[in-house]
Amino acid sequence: MSNPSLLILPGDGIGPEVMAEVRKIIDWYGTKRDLTFDVSEDLVGGAAYDKHGVPLADATMDKAQEVDAVLLGAVGGPKYDSLDFSVKPERGLLRLRKEMDLYANLRPAQCFDALADFSSLKRDVVAGLDIMIVRELTSGVYFGEPRGIFEEGNERVGINTQRYTESEIDRVARSAFELAMKRDKKLCSMEKANVMESGVLWREVVTKVGEDYPEVELSHMYADAGAMQLTRWPKQFDVIVTDNLFGDLLSDLAAMLTGSLGMLPSASLGAPMANGRPKALYEPVHGSAPDIAGQGKANPIACILSFAMALRYSFDAGDEATRLEEAVNAVLADGLRTADLLGEEGVQPVSTSEMGDAIVAKL
Ligand code: ATP
Ligand code: MG
Repeated sequence: MSNPSLLILPGDGIGPEVMAEVRKIIDWYGTKRDLTFDVSEDLVGGAAYDKHGVPLADATMDKAQEVDAVLLGAVGGPKYDSLDFSVKPERGLLRLRKEMDLYANLRPAQCFDALADFSSLKRDVVAGLDIMIVRELTSGVYFGEPRGIFEEGNERVGINTQRYTESEIDRVARSAFELAMKRDKKLCSMEKANVMESGVLWREVVTKVGEDYPEVELSHMYADAGAMQLTRWPKQFDVIVTDNLFGDLLSDLAAMLTGSLGMLPSASLGAPMANGRPKALYEPVHGSAPDIAGQGKANPIACILSFAMALRYSFDAGDEATRLEEAVNAVLADGLRTADLLGEEGVQPVSTSEMGDAIVAKL
């Protein structure tokens, strides 16, 4: 059998810096665990614009469609601010998401024990937290028609339309159930079926999909109550599935239960490919961070944890993902901190590459 394939797109700013640390980890898996990937690397964002005049070349797009997973660093930077909208670095990422039709956005909220005091919540509420929010990404109120600002009588009216088809709900629900099967087999669906028709349909379709996953314990919650429960006792959840708008809010809320932007991975999944696994793009939540780029200050953990997600969700290597997450936890427990994680006085920050090396050593 051929090796699993991975396309790496480091991008701009701190993207290449954090990706260099992921490369060390990939090398470690190849030599020590006999888990070898066919890795190819290409340009995206400003780096692609500089070479090709577009933020994503067609050949790169084709490659992304073929591989088992794409791992992206970050795109953008002040150098490109004055570019025409059609070639802005961000458009490279948007093209990937659109053409790969990545409709399920996965944002974990994972609290490493060593960072539990970073949260604004009490330590016992967040320590050991590990939940996953699945946000529908390509439909709902951000896209529904009609939309616009219209004249109505003698005043204007701003209109957006929350619209979901059964198939759009069905496919994102399936992504969420598949994830739940790889995790704690517990899924909570959030909508507002009490006041929204789309919510009524959402609940109905999710329940129906659930019949195909009898092992998964399914519950439903109104999204406002869900927000409350997420801050009260987030550990009651494992996987949460919700629409685009509620997911936007709830994933930000959940992410900040756990601390720094430099720690947050994400994934965007699409339809299952021939091998049964979903099309997938993994990336840190943070951007290109031009203010610290080129200084060796960036925290590589968000990108490393994005690779851990790829191990778990694209490469059927959940045990190896756990190994990597435990290595991250152990390094943090030893007190190693990049500058973004400093809290305690007297701690000297480590550099991007020192953090990467320490994680490899723990592995
Ligand atoms: P984008 O629009 O691309 O999301 P942004 O300006 O909204 O970019 P970031 O580029 O993520 O956001 O940067 C926000 C702040 O967080 C910056 O001060 C940046 O230095 C810091 N930051 C982001 N990522 C990291 C990281 N991996 N390590 C350390 N600091 C980071
Ligand atoms: Mg931003």
